[in-house]
Amino acid sequence: MALVYPYDTPPSKGSVVDITPEIKWLRQPLPMSLGHINCYLIKDGDGWCIVDTGMNLDEAKTQWMDIIETELNGGKITRVIVTHQHPDHVGLAGFLCDELNVPLWMSEIEYFYTRTFAGGMAREERYWETDQYLTRTCMAEATKETMFSGKTNGFSEMVTEVPASYHRIADQQVITIGDHQWVAITTRGHSPEHVCLYCKELDILISGDQVLPIITSNVSVSPIQPESSPLVDWFLAHDKLKQQVSDSVLVLPSHQLPFKGLHERLDEVIEHHEERLDSLHKLCEKPQDAQALTIQLFERELDPFQNFMAVGECISHLHYLMDKGKIKRNLNNDRYLYQKV
Ligand SMILES: [Zn+2]
Repeated sequence: MALVYPYDTPPSKGSVVDITPEIKWLRQPLPMSLGHINCYLIKDGDGWCIVDTGMNLDEAKTQWMDIIETELNGGKITRVIVTHQHPDHVGLAGFLCDELNVPLWMSEIEYFYTRTFAGGMAREERYWETDQYLTRTCMAEATKETMFSGKTNGFSEMVTEVPASYHRIADQQVITIGDHQWVAITTRGHSPEHVCLYCKELDILISGDQVLPIITSNVSVSPIQPESSPLVDWFLAHDKLKQQVSDSVLVLPSHQLPFKGLHERLDEVIEHHEERLDSLHKLCEKPQDAQALTIQLFERELDPFQNFMAVGECISHLHYLMDKGKIKRNLNNDRYLYQKV
């Protein structure tokens, strides 16, 4: 079954779309090519619970206050739930929680990742293993220059001051929001303890970045954990959602449009990664480094940030193939070359 999009127009600036009488959809702007993030409001007793917040931008802050004033008639906010630690999701959590005196709800790993990254660089000078990652992947100079020469990690500018307390969301926890119960389903792969919220009664899944209708979420090996293999976790996450969430749900994603056809989309994403694994396997006929493989795999112009994510994604696929014994990695002049076994 092809995906069905019940709403063809997203909410315009400063307004909301009612998904049900108890769920409202709004958009916050993002400076990157994606342009927007979807945020949701769930009726919570005599107020509203916010799910995901947007990035630290004046325009986004103003829009939250305007929407509370006009669309919610000055109604109260009860709490802020954040699906994961990426700045477009958690960016305004501190602002909203401080301004409105409401608690932050997040999974444990995502909360502490946010605090860690918001604290800035782990150290003054670049760590030797970060250098080693950049060298061994043959990372493009422009990416090294843009992403690794500054004195900050960029995260703290995109995120407002992190709340000092949080309320933990754990896997399978049932959270009562207003008249309904939502089950938290946590997954790894895109982020370490990403939360989706599933309401069986309403047949709605708030999917965060775990399920998106057209684009696929980044699944990357980064210098923080250079030998990780997140694609295994990503595949497991898809199995878990397929088992635990009904195919009939309306999916409310963090980007693009709400849709129906969850299981179809989960299958498509797995197929996409399998195709990518196949292509990489073929490209490894001759020994090549990760940056060179990325250029051939993505076949389009990538800016330095996109290239960093793409190389990370390429390596997650290479590690998967290595774990399966399909390719081997050799260190040659301090760069890793990958080749078919
Ligand atoms: Zn994300």
